[in-house]
Amino acid sequence: MMIKGDFPMMRNYIDCRDIPQTDKRCTVAIFADSDDELVEAAVQHGMAVHGHSDTTEFRNAIREVLEKGILIHNIWQGGVN
Ligand SMILES: [Zn+2]
Repeated sequence: MMIKGDFPMMRNYIDCRDIPQTDKRCTVAIFADSDDELVEAAVQHGMAVHGHSDTTEFRNAIREVLEKGILIHNIWQGGVN
């Protein structure tokens, strides 16, 4: 029997764990119901932990990655350009 309810079935998700070339072992995973929330949290995390800047370019790059379902850390490790 199918269960229908308000609980989020399709939460967006960013995982920082699989980072091949980072100086810091990052085990953070970020969840959010909306892309906006997730991008916001990802930007904050990127600035706090990975030394990124809060730029439009960075945010756009995060959104792009979310749409493609790729791990966000590909961006954080220098794939923005
Ligand atoms: Zn991280």
